[in-house]
Amino acid sequence: MSFTTLGLSPHLLDTLNEKGYSEPTPIQSQVIPLVLRGRDILGAAQTGTGKTAAFALPIIHKLISAGGTKQSSARALVIVPTRELASQVAEAIRSYGAGLEITTIALYGGANMARQAKELEEGVDIIVATPGRLIELNKQGHVPLSRIEYLVFDEADTIFDMGFIREVGQIIDLLPLKRQNMLFSATMTGAVKQLSEKILNKPLLVEIDNLKAADMTLRQVVHPVEKERKKELLSYLIGSNNYPQVLVFTRTKAEADEVSTDLTASGLKNVVIHGDKKHGARDRALTEFREGNTRILVATDIAARGLDIEGLDVVINYDIPHVSTDYLHRIGRTGRAGNDGLAITLLSSAEHISWSKIITMLGKNVETILVAGFEPPADNALVKTRGKSLSKEAEKKGKTAGAFGNKRKKAPVQPKFAGKRGPRLARDEDSAQGNSSTRNSAFGNSKKPSPKKSGGRGR
Ligand code: AMP
Repeated sequence: MSFTTLGLSPHLLDTLNEKGYSEPTPIQSQVIPLVLRGRDILGAAQTGTGKTAAFALPIIHKLISAGGTKQSSARALVIVPTRELASQVAEAIRSYGAGLEITTIALYGGANMARQAKELEEGVDIIVATPGRLIELNKQGHVPLSRIEYLVFDEADTIFDMGFIREVGQIIDLLPLKRQNMLFSATMTGAVKQLSEKILNKPLLVEIDNLKAADMTLRQVVHPVEKERKKELLSYLIGSNNYPQVLVFTRTKAEADEVSTDLTASGLKNVVIHGDKKHGARDRALTEFREGNTRILVATDIAARGLDIEGLDVVINYDIPHVSTDYLHRIGRTGRAGNDGLAITLLSSAEHISWSKIITMLGKNVETILVAGFEPPADNALVKTRGKSLSKEAEKKGKTAGAFGNKRKKAPVQPKFAGKRGPRLARDEDSAQGNSSTRNSAFGNSKKPSPKKSGGRGR
């Protein structure tokens, strides 16, 4: 399929062409015509599927077609969970609307409120905002929301994970009743369902069967290791495989700092992002990482949720996330836009139960590799090694076409909305607790211990 069949204006088509987008992703080919026709959308999709363009392009098209942009109050509102996503989504929207009279602003906490208020006064068309800052600015009279025609909730599950339930309700109450709504979420939690029932008008459900867990040019491996030796193994894997770019996930802010200190002590330069870091520091860290000045980024789940980092080769789960579906969010940072990726999980014996829940959620086993010299004691090991290494043939097995037209590994059976979890109301990412309720499953296949192998595609 080509973008030209979707009904977008010639100017937008030129922009996409210049960006090198040769064809729409599945979510784009489904969502764009529906939004152009005025329908409400419930989208089951993560970032990495091209969903920002899926909602941004038709909204820009409609704003331009209706004329009179840069009004005193905005006509499109995109609600996102984190500062980083606000910047990223606003930046993407600006790039899709390049050369058009469309103004987009990102509003998020930690940034100068007076400056944001001044920019709002100058007139904007599209607001991308985190819920808290939007409400603050609204209370001060800087963000009239009475003219909003298009409302998007992006990463709705994360918005609720971060505890923004009250703010979401307040925002909806401020909006005009007549509007077009789009809600995107990787997982359909109870809170997301309630929100969709409340705000969406006869929505069309768009499910992308290439959710990150299922469809990937992504290789997943797990290394069983004693908890006390994780930091050592982490440095060893990064150092010995010389990965160009690695994103390391930890559950807690304290752990992120510890891991970072340890990597630095091992001579591995890195940057950290988590909720306790000031906005400027988070921004600088991300820029350094994105521009390739630092090859290791250590991050907590929420700080890194939804980030689009071009060409990211490797994600390492230093530990198992609190909530099973966060595993999908983590590994979804790599293997994006059809590129290859490697997701490595360091697994201690205390994490077996959480890991088995993830395996159940994935609907397939993850390749288990004992790294020579780091094997846990026999009774803690998750697998018996059989001395058989992963062959290239085995790796090639089951390839199929992926979302971006590239060859991808065959998707396993995947729940429509992968996994369920209860609402996680802590805004403090360290105290966030999940309550996944999936059953346990047996552990995975046996592979030969080999540190080189464990590095996978050591690019
Ligand atoms: P998103 O899911 O919106 O975060 O997009 C993930 C990445 O895919 C971003 O880097 C986009 O620039 C890129 N992208 C979006 N749509 C396309 C497309 N049709 N072709 C190629 N890349 C795309």
